[in-house]
Formats: sequence, structure tokens, C-alpha cells
Amino acid sequence: MYFRAKEVKSEDFVGKEVSIRGWVHRLRRQKENAFVLLRDDRGGIIQCVFPAGKAEGLTIESSIEVAGIVNKDSRAPEGGFEIKGRSIKIFNVAPADYPIGEYQSDELLLDKRHLSLRTRRMIAIAKIRASVLHFGRRWFVENGWMEVTAPTIVKGAVEGGSTLFKLKYFDEEAYLSQSAQLYLEAMIFSLGPVWSLTPSFRAEKSRTVRHLAEFSHLEAEAPWVGLDDILKTEENLVSYVIQSTITERAEELEFLKRDVSDLKKVQPPFERLPYGRAIEVLRSRGFQVVQDDGSRRDIQFGDDLGIDSERELTKDAEKPIFVVGYPISVKPFYVKEDPQRPGVGLTADMLAPRGFGEITSGGQREDDMSSIINRMRKEGLNPDAYDWYLDLRKYGSVPHGGFGLGIERLVRWITNVEDIKDTVLFPRTMSRVSP
Ligand code: ATP
Ligand code: MG
Repeated sequence: MYFRAKEVKSEDFVGKEVSIRGWVHRLRRQKENAFVLLRDDRGGIIQCVFPAGKAEGLTIESSIEVAGIVNKDSRAPEGGFEIKGRSIKIFNVAPADYPIGEYQSDELLLDKRHLSLRTRRMIAIAKIRASVLHFGRRWFVENGWMEVTAPTIVKGAVEGGSTLFKLKYFDEEAYLSQSAQLYLEAMIFSLGPVWSLTPSFRAEKSRTVRHLAEFSHLEAEAPWVGLDDILKTEENLVSYVIQSTITERAEELEFLKRDVSDLKKVQPPFERLPYGRAIEVLRSRGFQVVQDDGSRRDIQFGDDLGIDSERELTKDAEKPIFVVGYPISVKPFYVKEDPQRPGVGLTADMLAPRGFGEITSGGQREDDMSSIINRMRKEGLNPDAYDWYLDLRKYGSVPHGGFGLGIERLVRWITNVEDIKDTVLFPRTMSRVSP
């Protein structure tokens, strides 16, 4: 029987013989003894001490199996327990040129991501991400939402043509999906509230710390809901995921030096900030936007919010903020116009606090056939390309809505890592499609 490091680091194991398998994470040789920091296959670390002769030939990242007695010694790193090694079996001796050491450029760590995911930082982030996915799924299951899967090879754009990845699909042209939303909309008529977790693809040409070309998209859609129902769903889901994750992953967050005191405050309700008010706040602070020709002007009603304005709005916030009621002109064709306020969309983005910015977009969908066709035309889309989607407005249309949440955006906020590329093990960006 084999143990993991975490299991044997306990009073119960002191004096007992254990076997443990893993890799040489660090190695220090003294005249008499060799100190091996062994990393197991869940990233747990324990010091193993051997008489110097027994550890000959070992190198960093060699794979080994160690048998020995658990010993308590306050000098032992990683929790004060160690293994007095009796025997060591070597599976593979790694060449001495293992490229990942203590100090590396970010670029090298990305080029060698298949190896750098053995670093403790990446292990900690991966575990936090796993918890986010786990608790997200759990929230939906426990609250009566049904999990579905939508195709990722599609014919129509959801979020605008400029970020579409084109694909040769046999003799046709197709695209990688930007969002499962239109398919989820089709499902609510027979499956009720549904949710999915699928990769979305966007050919994002700007290099930012919050855009990937492929990201994990958590999306939900339900019949007979209004904007307020959707926002409640979002704030409950996000609060649950955060509270559960910071409890389960306290150790990993501490390793990342993430002070979670602000995350603890993330409980419903979140503030609803009307879009118009957001623009007023930004104008009162002299906030400017950069225009296409590079010149600057004051932000004004009608402008979309971008990374900089979202940072400005949330820099002092402790909880997420919903910006509610964007002009429909900056939102896609499917956003429903508020019948009471022409030009205003029944839509909201959730902005994470402390400058992290948008993590969800959601709202009520346009359920009227002629209005949605008009909106498509205004956006230069050909309604014929959406024939199946328009059937949903034809046969039993109902008020409905939903939202999309970027898992990597949420993980970035929870972990407080600077670059979204570090929230995913093998990131895809404009300049990176390997490893
Ligand atoms: P942004 O304005 O930040 O570019 P968006 O409004 O284009 O995002 P949506 O279409 O609203 O994005 O997608 C829903 C959610 O998916 C976003 O709120 C965000 O969390 C996530 N998301 C969108 N694009 C990306 C991306 N390129 N990389 C990572 N996550 C993304
Ligand atoms: Mg959005």
C-alpha cells in the first residue's frame, strides 16, 4: 500500500513504516545524509532522509519509490514530519538538464508548461480551479438545473464576427463556437433550466491579462425568468462557489499568498449599478476612452465599458457589482430591449471587485420574432443564417434568459494571479498554441 505525503504527516504515523511514490522535487546532499523533498502525484511534499550513499545518482525530477519510517522533527520542512528512508527504488533517472528551477522567465515557464505544471504554484492553482468547477457543478445540480452539452462546431456567430475561428468542415465552412447560448435557448422548451460547461473560442487579437483564445464557459439558460431572477441566480452561484472554494482550498490560497478576507465578504446581494450611473461616476472622475485614431475623449453615455473603466468602477469595491441596463447598441442582437426604456437592454455584467472586472454577462433574451430580426439586420447579420434559432421565436416563444461566466476569470480573481494564462494548464492565445 502506498501513501501520499499529506496522509503520513500525522502523529498517527510516527514510528510506522510507509511506502510512498513520487518525484525528486528538491535535493540537498550533506556529508552523511541526503535530503530529498519528494513530491507525490497530488503535489504533496515530504522530506525523506537517506544515508548519503543510498541517494547516489538521484537528480531533480527522477521518479522514485521510498520506504522508511515516519519521524517527527520540527526541523523538517513542510510541516515537521519526515521519512527516515530505508530503501529507495528509482524508476527513471531524469537527465541533469531539467529546465525548471527556482527562477525562470514567465515565457520559459509557458514554453515548458508541460513541465512547469509540476511547480507548486501551478499545482495550487490547478487545485483551486478543480474546486471552482466542482462547486459550480454542485450548485447547479442542487438547485434543480439540468446539465447539457452543446456542440462546439457551429455555423453561426453569437458574439460578433471579428473573433470567429473559421474551420474547414468537410466541404463546408464552419466555426468554433463562441458560446453555447443559442443552443441552450433551444433546450429550455423541453428541459427547463439548463446549464453547460463547454470550451468557447474567440480569436481575441488584443493581448490582455484577461482574454484567452479558448476558455471554459459556464452557461445557464431558463424559461420564464426576468433579469432580476437571473441576477439572483448569478450572485448565489458565485457566492457559493467562492465560499466553498476558499474553505476547501485554504492551504493552496495561503501558498499563493492570497489574503481571502475580502473573498469572505462575497455574499448576496451584490450591488446593482445602473449603466447610466456608472458613466456618471466615470465622468466625475475624469475618465477617458481611447478612440480608434488613438486620441482621447471623456467617456460618454453609449460607450461600452472596457478593462480600464471596469477597473476604475471596481477598484474600491469589496464585492462584485452588477452594471445593469447597457444600451442595446453595445450588446449583441439577442439582448431584450426594456419595453419601458427604449434603447436600454435588460442585461447586466457582473464585475469582480478590486479591478478584476467582468466575469459574467447575462440578461433577458429578445423573445419577439420581428424585433430580433430587426436587431440582426441592424447588426449586419443575415437572419437566414439563423433559421433554426428563429424557429424558437416562432413555436411557443416565452420570456427567458440566462448568463455566461468565464471560469478562468473567476479563478483569476480567486487566486489573484496577474495573468489569465496561469489559470489554465495549457493556455491558448494569439501567440501560443503549444504545448
Ligand atoms: P470582454 O468584454 O471582457 O471581452 P465579452 O463581453 O466579450 O468579454 P461575453 O461574450 O459576455 O464576453 O462572455 C461571457 C463571459 O465569458 C465573460 O463575462 C467572461 O467571463 C468570459 N470571457 C469572454 N471572453 C473571454 C476570453 N477571451 N477569455 C476568457 N474569458 C472570456
Ligand atoms: Mg460580456
